[in-house]
Amino acid sequence: MKIKTLLVSLLTVGALGASATALAQDKGQIGISMPTKASARWIDDGNNMVKVFKEKGYRPDLQYADDDIPNQLAQIENMITKGVKVLVIAAIDGTTLSDALQKAHDKGIKIISYDRLIRNSKNVDYYATFDNFQVGVLQASYIEKALDLKAGKGPFNIELFGGSGDDNNAFFFYNGAMSVLKPYMDKGKLVVRSKQLGMDKVATLRWDGAVAQARMDNLLSANYGSARVDAVLSPYDGLSIGILSSLKGVGYGTPKMPMPVVTGQDAEVASVKSILRGEQRSTIFKDTRELAKVTANMVDAMMTGKQVPVNDTKTYNNGVKVVPSYLLKPVSVDISNWKKVLVTDSGYYTEAQFK
Ligand code: BGC
Repeated sequence: MKIKTLLVSLLTVGALGASATALAQDKGQIGISMPTKASARWIDDGNNMVKVFKEKGYRPDLQYADDDIPNQLAQIENMITKGVKVLVIAAIDGTTLSDALQKAHDKGIKIISYDRLIRNSKNVDYYATFDNFQVGVLQASYIEKALDLKAGKGPFNIELFGGSGDDNNAFFFYNGAMSVLKPYMDKGKLVVRSKQLGMDKVATLRWDGAVAQARMDNLLSANYGSARVDAVLSPYDGLSIGILSSLKGVGYGTPKMPMPVVTGQDAEVASVKSILRGEQRSTIFKDTRELAKVTANMVDAMMTGKQVPVNDTKTYNNGVKVVPSYLLKPVSVDISNWKKVLVTDSGYYTEAQFK
Protein backbone atom coordinates (compact mmCIF):
# COMPACT_ATOMS: atom_id res chain seq x y z
CA MET A 1 0.00 0.00 0.00
CA LYS A 2 2.72 2.35 1.04
CA ILE A 3 4.72 1.59 -2.09
CA LYS A 4 1.65 2.22 -4.23
CA THR A 5 1.12 5.65 -2.63
CA LEU A 6 4.75 6.49 -3.16
CA LEU A 7 4.54 5.46 -6.77
CA VAL A 8 1.42 7.52 -7.33
CA SER A 9 2.95 10.57 -5.75
CA LEU A 10 6.16 10.12 -7.71
CA LEU A 11 4.13 9.89 -10.90
CA THR A 12 2.13 12.98 -9.98
CA VAL A 13 5.27 14.96 -9.24
CA GLY A 14 6.72 13.73 -12.50
CA ALA A 15 3.66 14.77 -14.46
CA LEU A 16 3.49 18.13 -12.77
CA GLY A 17 7.19 18.62 -13.38
CA ALA A 18 6.78 17.79 -17.04
CA SER A 19 3.84 20.12 -17.56
CA ALA A 20 5.64 22.85 -15.62
CA THR A 21 8.57 22.54 -18.05
CA ALA A 22 6.19 22.59 -21.01
CA LEU A 23 4.56 25.71 -19.61
CA ALA A 24 7.89 27.39 -18.99
CA GLN A 25 8.80 26.78 -22.63
CA ASP A 26 5.56 28.08 -24.05
CA LYS A 27 5.30 31.74 -23.25
CA GLY A 28 2.37 32.19 -25.63
CA GLN A 29 1.62 33.28 -29.14
CA ILE A 30 2.87 36.53 -30.69
CA GLY A 31 1.17 37.98 -33.76
CA ILE A 32 3.58 39.53 -36.25
CA SER A 33 1.91 41.54 -38.99
CA MET A 34 4.24 42.67 -41.81
CA PRO A 35 3.24 44.87 -44.75
CA THR A 36 4.64 43.17 -47.83
CA LYS A 37 7.03 40.63 -49.26
CA ALA A 38 7.75 42.89 -52.22
CA SER A 39 10.86 44.22 -50.53
CA ALA A 40 13.61 42.06 -49.04
CA ARG A 41 13.86 44.04 -45.84
CA TRP A 42 10.39 43.00 -44.63
CA ILE A 43 11.15 39.36 -45.42
CA ASP A 44 14.29 39.66 -43.30
CA ASP A 45 12.37 41.42 -40.51
CA GLY A 46 9.81 38.60 -40.41
CA ASN A 47 12.37 35.80 -40.46
CA ASN A 48 14.52 37.47 -37.82
CA MET A 49 11.57 37.94 -35.51
CA VAL A 50 10.39 34.36 -35.88
CA LYS A 51 13.89 33.24 -34.92
CA VAL A 52 14.31 35.41 -31.82
CA PHE A 53 10.79 34.87 -30.55
CA LYS A 54 11.22 31.10 -30.83
CA GLU A 55 14.54 31.30 -28.99
CA LYS A 56 12.79 33.11 -26.17
CA GLY A 57 10.05 30.48 -25.90
CA TYR A 58 7.22 32.26 -27.76
CA ARG A 59 5.11 30.96 -30.65
CA PRO A 60 5.29 33.53 -33.46
CA ASP A 61 2.44 33.81 -35.97
CA LEU A 62 3.91 35.71 -38.94
CA GLN A 63 1.60 37.16 -41.63
CA TYR A 64 2.27 39.35 -44.67
CA ALA A 65 -0.49 41.58 -46.04
CA ASP A 66 0.59 42.15 -49.67
CA ASP A 67 0.38 45.92 -49.16
CA ASP A 68 -3.39 45.57 -48.94
CA ILE A 69 -4.96 47.48 -46.04
CA PRO A 70 -8.15 45.34 -45.60
CA ASN A 71 -5.95 42.25 -45.76
CA GLN A 72 -3.74 43.51 -42.94
CA LEU A 73 -6.79 44.39 -40.85
CA ALA A 74 -8.26 40.91 -41.37
CA GLN A 75 -4.97 39.27 -40.42
CA ILE A 76 -4.72 41.33 -37.25
CA GLU A 77 -8.35 40.59 -36.28
CA ASN A 78 -7.64 36.92 -36.79
CA MET A 79 -4.62 37.12 -34.50
CA ILE A 80 -6.77 38.81 -31.85
CA THR A 81 -9.33 35.99 -32.11
CA LYS A 82 -6.57 33.39 -31.80
CA GLY A 83 -5.61 34.97 -28.49
CA VAL A 84 -2.10 36.25 -29.14
CA LYS A 85 -0.42 37.92 -26.16
CA VAL A 86 1.23 40.68 -28.16
CA LEU A 87 0.76 42.18 -31.61
CA VAL A 88 3.87 43.39 -33.43
CA ILE A 89 2.73 45.48 -36.38
CA ALA A 90 4.50 47.21 -39.26
CA ALA A 91 1.48 49.02 -40.67
CA ILE A 92 0.77 49.57 -44.36
CA ASP A 93 -1.33 52.61 -43.53
CA GLY A 94 -0.46 53.80 -40.04
CA THR A 95 -3.81 55.55 -39.59
CA THR A 96 -6.36 52.79 -40.20
CA LEU A 97 -5.89 50.38 -37.34
CA SER A 98 -7.52 52.19 -34.40
CA ASP A 99 -10.65 50.01 -34.09
CA ALA A 100 -8.78 46.73 -34.29
CA LEU A 101 -6.25 47.94 -31.75
CA GLN A 102 -9.03 48.98 -29.37
CA LYS A 103 -10.43 45.45 -29.63
CA ALA A 104 -6.97 44.02 -28.92
CA HIS A 105 -6.41 46.32 -25.97
CA ASP A 106 -9.79 45.39 -24.47
CA LYS A 107 -8.65 41.77 -24.52
CA GLY A 108 -5.43 42.65 -22.70
CA ILE A 109 -3.25 42.27 -25.80
CA LYS A 110 -0.14 44.48 -25.85
CA ILE A 111 0.77 46.34 -29.03
CA ILE A 112 4.17 47.16 -30.45
CA SER A 113 4.49 49.42 -33.44
CA TYR A 114 7.30 47.95 -35.52
CA ASP A 115 9.52 50.22 -37.63
CA ARG A 116 6.54 52.40 -38.66
CA LEU A 117 4.56 54.36 -36.08
CA ILE A 118 0.85 53.54 -35.83
CA ARG A 119 -1.01 56.81 -35.60
CA ASN A 120 -4.17 57.96 -33.83
CA SER A 121 -4.39 55.14 -31.29
CA LYS A 122 -3.79 55.38 -27.58
CA ASN A 123 -3.34 51.62 -27.48
CA VAL A 124 0.14 51.52 -28.98
CA ASP A 125 2.29 50.49 -26.02
CA TYR A 126 5.79 50.76 -27.49
CA TYR A 127 7.60 51.59 -30.71
CA ALA A 128 10.74 49.80 -31.97
CA THR A 129 12.42 51.52 -34.90
CA PHE A 130 15.50 53.23 -36.32
CA ASP A 131 16.23 56.90 -35.94
CA ASN A 132 14.10 57.88 -38.92
CA PHE A 133 14.96 61.59 -38.93
CA GLN A 134 18.62 60.59 -38.98
CA VAL A 135 17.98 58.39 -42.04
CA GLY A 136 16.95 61.53 -43.94
CA VAL A 137 19.90 63.48 -42.56
CA LEU A 138 22.29 60.76 -43.77
CA GLN A 139 20.72 60.61 -47.23
CA ALA A 140 20.93 64.38 -47.68
CA SER A 141 24.40 64.61 -46.15
CA TYR A 142 25.56 62.19 -48.82
CA ILE A 143 24.33 64.58 -51.51
CA GLU A 144 25.87 67.52 -49.64
CA LYS A 145 29.26 65.79 -49.63
CA ALA A 146 29.10 64.40 -53.17
CA LEU A 147 28.33 67.85 -54.60
CA ASP A 148 30.80 69.55 -52.23
CA LEU A 149 28.11 71.97 -51.13
CA LYS A 150 29.88 72.85 -47.89
CA ALA A 151 32.72 74.30 -49.95
CA GLY A 152 30.23 76.62 -51.64
CA LYS A 153 29.98 74.72 -54.95
CA GLY A 154 26.86 75.08 -57.06
CA PRO A 155 24.26 75.87 -58.13
CA PHE A 156 23.12 72.28 -58.75
CA ASN A 157 19.77 70.92 -59.83
CA ILE A 158 18.06 68.46 -57.53
CA GLU A 159 14.72 66.64 -57.52
CA LEU A 160 13.09 65.20 -54.42
CA PHE A 161 11.19 61.98 -53.78
CA GLY A 162 9.26 61.08 -50.66
CA GLY A 163 7.95 57.77 -49.36
CA SER A 164 4.32 56.75 -48.95
CA GLY A 165 2.15 59.50 -47.49
CA ASP A 166 0.40 57.03 -45.17
CA ASP A 167 3.70 55.93 -43.62
CA ASN A 168 4.75 58.15 -40.72
CA ASN A 169 8.39 57.34 -41.45
CA ALA A 170 8.19 59.01 -44.84
CA PHE A 171 7.72 62.40 -43.16
CA PHE A 172 10.66 61.82 -40.83
CA PHE A 173 12.90 60.85 -43.76
CA TYR A 174 11.81 63.90 -45.74
CA ASN A 175 12.12 66.33 -42.85
CA GLY A 176 15.51 64.92 -41.87
CA ALA A 177 16.73 65.37 -45.44
CA MET A 178 15.30 68.87 -45.72
CA SER A 179 17.06 69.90 -42.50
CA VAL A 180 20.29 69.48 -44.48
CA LEU A 181 19.17 70.56 -47.98
CA LYS A 182 16.92 73.55 -47.27
CA PRO A 183 19.73 75.99 -46.33
CA TYR A 184 21.38 75.29 -49.71
CA MET A 185 18.05 75.82 -51.47
CA ASP A 186 17.61 79.11 -49.64
CA LYS A 187 21.07 80.22 -50.81
CA GLY A 188 20.31 79.16 -54.39
CA LYS A 189 23.02 76.48 -54.35
CA LEU A 190 20.42 73.75 -54.84
CA VAL A 191 17.62 74.35 -57.30
CA VAL A 192 14.47 72.26 -57.65
CA ARG A 193 13.55 73.10 -61.24
CA SER A 194 10.18 71.35 -61.02
CA LYS A 195 9.35 73.40 -57.91
CA GLN A 196 7.88 70.20 -56.46
CA LEU A 197 8.64 70.45 -52.77
CA GLY A 198 6.80 69.18 -49.69
CA MET A 199 5.43 65.72 -48.97
CA ASP A 200 2.08 66.64 -50.54
CA LYS A 201 3.91 66.97 -53.89
CA VAL A 202 6.75 64.44 -53.68
CA ALA A 203 5.21 61.43 -51.85
CA THR A 204 5.16 58.04 -53.59
CA LEU A 205 2.10 55.99 -52.67
CA ARG A 206 2.92 52.49 -51.27
CA TRP A 207 6.64 53.11 -51.91
CA ASP A 208 6.01 51.92 -55.47
CA GLY A 209 9.08 51.99 -57.75
CA ALA A 210 6.94 52.15 -60.90
CA VAL A 211 5.19 55.26 -59.59
CA ALA A 212 8.58 56.87 -58.90
CA GLN A 213 9.79 55.96 -62.38
CA ALA A 214 6.73 57.53 -64.01
CA ARG A 215 7.13 60.69 -61.93
CA MET A 216 10.84 60.91 -62.81
CA ASP A 217 9.95 60.54 -66.52
CA ASN A 218 7.60 63.51 -66.18
CA LEU A 219 10.06 65.60 -64.18
CA LEU A 220 12.76 65.05 -66.80
CA SER A 221 10.61 65.80 -69.82
CA ALA A 222 8.99 68.87 -68.27
CA ASN A 223 12.06 70.49 -66.69
CA TYR A 224 15.27 69.12 -68.10
CA GLY A 225 15.15 69.69 -71.85
CA SER A 226 18.59 71.26 -71.95
CA ALA A 227 19.36 71.35 -68.23
CA ARG A 228 20.95 68.52 -66.26
CA VAL A 229 19.78 67.03 -63.01
CA ASP A 230 22.69 66.64 -60.58
CA ALA A 231 21.08 64.87 -57.64
CA VAL A 232 17.91 62.97 -56.76
CA LEU A 233 16.89 62.49 -53.15
CA SER A 234 15.37 59.02 -53.02
CA PRO A 235 14.26 57.64 -49.66
CA TYR A 236 14.20 53.92 -50.58
CA ASP A 237 16.17 51.54 -52.82
CA GLY A 238 12.99 50.33 -54.54
CA LEU A 239 12.25 53.90 -55.68
CA SER A 240 15.86 54.47 -56.68
CA ILE A 241 15.68 51.54 -59.11
CA GLY A 242 12.73 53.20 -60.87
CA ILE A 243 14.39 56.62 -60.84
CA LEU A 244 17.62 55.20 -62.27
CA SER A 245 15.82 53.44 -65.12
CA SER A 246 14.05 56.65 -65.99
CA LEU A 247 17.40 58.49 -66.03
CA LYS A 248 19.00 55.79 -68.17
CA GLY A 249 16.04 56.03 -70.53
CA VAL A 250 17.01 59.60 -71.47
CA GLY A 251 20.73 58.93 -71.71
CA TYR A 252 22.17 59.46 -68.23
CA GLY A 253 24.91 57.09 -67.11
CA THR A 254 27.52 57.76 -69.79
CA PRO A 255 30.83 59.67 -69.51
CA LYS A 256 29.23 62.60 -71.36
CA MET A 257 26.12 62.52 -69.21
CA PRO A 258 27.03 61.02 -65.83
CA MET A 259 24.34 59.78 -63.46
CA PRO A 260 23.14 62.28 -60.91
CA VAL A 261 23.82 61.44 -57.25
CA VAL A 262 20.93 59.12 -56.35
CA THR A 263 20.43 58.03 -52.73
CA GLY A 264 18.45 55.11 -51.29
CA GLN A 265 17.64 53.10 -48.20
CA ASP A 266 17.67 49.49 -46.94
CA ALA A 267 20.91 48.28 -48.56
CA GLU A 268 19.00 45.76 -50.66
CA VAL A 269 21.21 43.40 -52.67
CA ALA A 270 20.13 44.72 -56.09
CA SER A 271 20.83 48.29 -55.02
CA VAL A 272 24.21 47.53 -53.46
CA LYS A 273 25.07 45.92 -56.80
CA SER A 274 23.92 49.12 -58.49
CA ILE A 275 26.30 51.05 -56.21
CA LEU A 276 29.10 48.68 -57.23
CA ARG A 277 28.29 49.45 -60.90
CA GLY A 278 28.50 53.19 -60.16
CA GLU A 279 24.79 53.88 -60.75
CA GLN A 280 23.09 54.41 -57.37
CA ARG A 281 25.51 56.29 -55.12
CA SER A 282 24.45 55.56 -51.56
CA THR A 283 22.01 53.64 -49.42
CA ILE A 284 21.21 53.28 -45.72
CA PHE A 285 21.84 50.06 -43.84
CA LYS A 286 19.38 49.20 -41.09
CA ASP A 287 20.23 45.97 -39.30
CA THR A 288 16.85 44.25 -39.09
CA ARG A 289 18.33 41.55 -36.83
CA GLU A 290 18.89 44.21 -34.19
CA LEU A 291 15.36 45.53 -34.60
CA ALA A 292 13.99 42.02 -34.11
CA LYS A 293 16.06 41.66 -30.93
CA VAL A 294 14.90 44.98 -29.53
CA THR A 295 11.30 44.01 -30.23
CA ALA A 296 11.60 40.59 -28.60
CA ASN A 297 13.27 42.17 -25.56
CA MET A 298 10.38 44.62 -25.29
CA VAL A 299 7.87 41.77 -25.44
CA ASP A 300 9.75 39.69 -22.89
CA ALA A 301 10.03 42.62 -20.49
CA MET A 302 6.30 43.36 -20.79
CA MET A 303 5.36 39.74 -20.26
CA THR A 304 7.54 39.36 -17.19
CA GLY A 305 6.73 42.70 -15.60
CA LYS A 306 10.25 44.06 -16.07
CA GLN A 307 11.18 47.51 -17.23
CA VAL A 308 10.77 47.76 -20.99
CA PRO A 309 13.95 49.00 -22.72
CA VAL A 310 13.38 52.39 -24.42
CA ASN A 311 15.79 55.18 -25.30
CA ASP A 312 13.43 57.90 -26.55
CA THR A 313 10.32 59.23 -24.87
CA LYS A 314 9.92 62.52 -26.74
CA THR A 315 10.06 62.16 -30.51
CA TYR A 316 7.19 59.95 -31.59
CA ASN A 317 3.84 61.57 -30.96
CA ASN A 318 1.27 59.50 -32.83
CA GLY A 319 -1.41 62.17 -32.67
CA VAL A 320 -2.85 60.91 -29.39
CA LYS A 321 0.18 60.17 -27.24
CA VAL A 322 3.95 60.11 -27.27
CA VAL A 323 4.86 56.46 -27.74
CA PRO A 324 7.92 55.30 -25.75
CA SER A 325 10.43 54.16 -28.33
CA TYR A 326 13.69 52.38 -28.89
CA LEU A 327 15.65 53.90 -31.78
CA LEU A 328 18.48 52.06 -33.50
CA LYS A 329 21.19 53.78 -35.52
CA PRO A 330 21.05 53.76 -39.33
CA VAL A 331 24.37 53.64 -41.22
CA SER A 332 25.18 55.34 -44.51
CA VAL A 333 26.70 53.01 -47.12
CA ASP A 334 28.48 53.75 -50.39
CA ILE A 335 31.23 52.34 -52.58
CA SER A 336 33.89 53.16 -49.96
CA ASN A 337 32.46 51.26 -46.97
CA TRP A 338 29.94 48.71 -48.28
CA LYS A 339 32.15 45.68 -47.65
CA LYS A 340 33.15 46.71 -44.15
CA VAL A 341 29.62 47.62 -43.04
CA LEU A 342 27.56 44.94 -44.79
CA VAL A 343 29.94 41.98 -44.84
CA THR A 344 33.00 42.18 -42.58
CA ASP A 345 31.68 44.00 -39.51
CA SER A 346 28.05 42.87 -39.42
CA GLY A 347 28.03 39.63 -41.41
CA TYR A 348 24.56 40.71 -42.60
CA TYR A 349 25.46 39.58 -46.12
CA THR A 350 28.17 37.41 -47.62
CA GLU A 351 30.41 38.90 -50.26
CA ALA A 352 29.24 36.22 -52.70
CA GLN A 353 25.74 37.76 -52.70
CA PHE A 354 27.12 40.74 -54.60
CA LYS A 355 28.91 38.76 -57.31
C1 BGC B 1 10.92 51.70 -43.80
C2 BGC B 1 12.02 51.70 -44.82
C3 BGC B 1 11.54 51.12 -46.13
C4 BGC B 1 10.21 51.70 -46.53
C5 BGC B 1 9.64 50.97 -47.73
C6 BGC B 1 9.72 52.38 -44.36
O1 BGC B 1 8.71 52.45 -43.42
O2 BGC B 1 11.37 52.33 -42.62
O3 BGC B 1 13.13 50.95 -44.33
O4 BGC B 1 12.47 51.43 -47.12
O5 BGC B 1 9.29 51.64 -45.49
O6 BGC B 1 9.41 49.64 -47.46
